Amino acid sequence: MKIKYTRKYTYIYGYMRMAKERTKLTITINRELLENVKEKAHKKGLTLSKLIENFLDFYVNPKLYCFKCGRDFRAGETEICSKCGWLICPHCGACRCNLSDDVASAVYHMRRVYEDLLIGKVK
Ligand SMILES: [Zn+2]
Ligand SMILES: [Zn+2]
Repeated sequence: MKIKYTRKYTYIYGYMRMAKERTKLTITINRELLENVKEKAHKKGLTLSKLIENFLDFYVNPKLYCFKCGRDFRAGETEICSKCGWLICPHCGACRCNLSDDVASAVYHMRRVYEDLLIGKVK
């Protein structure tokens, strides 16, 4: 019981520390793109730091939504089905094997959006 508490505390402490520690980042990107991003972010009330941090968080461990039960999960928290090669939902166990060809095709093309964004596979 005591060990369980300590682990949970360590996890929460680690998470809080990570959330508070911030550092500067210098990047080089296309000037016109930067101007367009600044304009769009300003209209949405977002900062460039928030946008970049959100993307990098997604890049490190993508948060996805199950196409069957709709619950979210992180790509790093689940396994890949050895039969279809898709991520298995940790909540309901769904993967490509449970879908009709039409639904699987739609999901496949949605997944391509992620993969274009990540410049590679989700996991
Ligand atoms: Zn699910
Ligand atoms: Zn499968």
